[in-house]
Amino acid sequence: MNSEATIRLMVGTGNAHKTEEIAQVLADLNSIEVTSAKILPESPEIIEDGETFIENARIKALGFAKAASKLAEDSRPHWVLSDDSGLAVDALEGKPGVHSARYSEDIHGPNPSDAQNNAKLLAALSGIEKEQRTARFICTLVLVKVPESPEQAAEILLETAGQCEGRIIESTQGAGGFGYDPLFWVPELGTTFGEAGAELKNQLSHRARALEKLKVGIGSELLK
Ligand code: IMP
Repeated sequence: MNSEATIRLMVGTGNAHKTEEIAQVLADLNSIEVTSAKILPESPEIIEDGETFIENARIKALGFAKAASKLAEDSRPHWVLSDDSGLAVDALEGKPGVHSARYSEDIHGPNPSDAQNNAKLLAALSGIEKEQRTARFICTLVLVKVPESPEQAAEILLETAGQCEGRIIESTQGAGGFGYDPLFWVPELGTTFGEAGAELKNQLSHRARALEKLKVGIGSELLK
């Protein structure tokens, strides 16, 4: 792939917030055009049964790449980028971890809302002192090359990870972002991600950090 050609990169996720954050951080890569997974006729069914973030990111990237490989050449993306991310809380021994999106499904059934997950987290940390409420967001990214047909295997091009340290406060603050953002207080900002706004979050979030490493890898290894 030479640096002159435009590369179509599809973000392999059904989460519109993630697609938006990824598109914003990659916006300055002129040779890359970011599209969402809405270009697929239907969303692939992906079973995220990995035990780690990176395993789940690979499962998603390979699943979305297989679905994308069925598209006609003129609309088929060249690359698929998937993220698996979540929150690890020290006082909960790293939970909710890879189960962040479905943390409260034991209480509310499949696909609990962000508000339901946040309520379970607050209940789990009830009575725990401020100093012991440390946590981090973790993001892993997997970039794969989309094969020309579903019979061919997708090739993993790059994998990166990023973290952001913070603390879980005692009630939600701010309505921006998604997921656990209104409970995640970031010392570098003096606010939660829910209050920070997209621009500030995208400067230092776990996803932004993993994406910055990905950009370096794309520049040095793939667009040479
Ligand atoms: P995934 O889509 O399986 O990777 O699940 C990620 C889950 O982790 C989300 O549904 C959120 O609950 C949480 N999460 C990941 N990244 C963020 C973030 O940037 N802000 C808030 N919550 C996040």
